Amino acid sequence: MKTRVDARFRAEVIEYALRFDCESCAHFVEARRACGNGYPNGAHLRQALDEITELEFCKEFELS
Ligand code: SF4
Repeated sequence: MKTRVDARFRAEVIEYALRFDCESCAHFVEARRACGNGYPNGAHLRQALDEITELEFCKEFELS
């Protein structure tokens, strides 16, 4: 699911400590930087929010 990354989104990520990337997901295998469920995860790895204008959420995300 794609969402726009704008000033409001960036502020809400900080204000509410939102987590949504693989590195914060219970299925993430840190040693391989891979998804434990076998999904291609390149689009869901942590990114600098001030460098992007769109973000792709993973529907399998589960907070770790
Ligand atoms: S389930 Fe989705 S968010 Fe979690 S590690 Fe796999 S690709 Fe990343």
